[in-house]
Amino acid sequence: MKILIDGIEIEAQPGETILEAAKRTGIHIPTLCYHEAFGGQGSCRFCMVEVTKNGSSRVVASCTYPVNDGIEVKTSTPQIDKIRRNIAMLLYKRAPNSLFMQTLYKEHLCTENNLTEDPHEKCILCRLCVNACASMGVSAISTVMRGTDKRVATPYDDAAAVCIGCAACAQVCPTGCIEVQEEGNTRRIWNRDFVMVACEDCGKKFATREQLAYIVDKSKQDSPEGELQLCETCRRKVIARKLETFNG
Ligand code: SF4
Ligand code: SF4
Repeated sequence: MKILIDGIEIEAQPGETILEAAKRTGIHIPTLCYHEAFGGQGSCRFCMVEVTKNGSSRVVASCTYPVNDGIEVKTSTPQIDKIRRNIAMLLYKRAPNSLFMQTLYKEHLCTENNLTEDPHEKCILCRLCVNACASMGVSAISTVMRGTDKRVATPYDDAAAVCIGCAACAQVCPTGCIEVQEEGNTRRIWNRDFVMVACEDCGKKFATREQLAYIVDKSKQDSPEGELQLCETCRRKVIARKLETFNG
């Protein structure tokens, strides 16, 4: 089906969202709570766009709005820019200690600087960390409390017994507010210490013991006897070498 985004005609696929169609064709729509791995949540509203069909227009979240034939999309209008500015301002007020939010605040020409919330806060409650953890089947963290006290935490703020220390939550966090400390063989995250395992080829510490045990358990396989514990890069090199040998 054909749709127009900012005057450019593109071929959209049935079932994809406006954001996905735009991304696929290199058109930028700003997002906060979207991640390719988990799809759109429609919660931060930063990806709002104006959609016009049969002469009537509405403002929608592009990360959840499915494409349909003949729509015309505008990614920037005075109304949309104002919505984004207000969101940037509100999130900056919530998480002023985040470099990410400080940059966004400036980029969107926000003027409000009456900070009423915690000046040390970095979290914008986008839930990407919660989704990352859940998508691995762990669910060690969730949002707790309500209103202005809402935050991401482990149960009772204790060291979560189910956490495997993989740091996927920290990797997807746009504001860098999940602390991961690595020293020697130890990684500390969510109030818990994990022992890191070194790649048997390059020596890089690449995963926690719990993470590797979890992967083995999930794949319902024992580690093949004699197989080295390798980081992703070395594992790829070994596979490439094996393929070369196999292909002669
Ligand atoms: S480090 Fe723990 S909380 Fe974070 S994604 Fe991994 S298992 Fe979940
Ligand atoms: S910790 Fe990071 S990823 Fe998780 S909700 Fe807060 S800002 Fe989003």
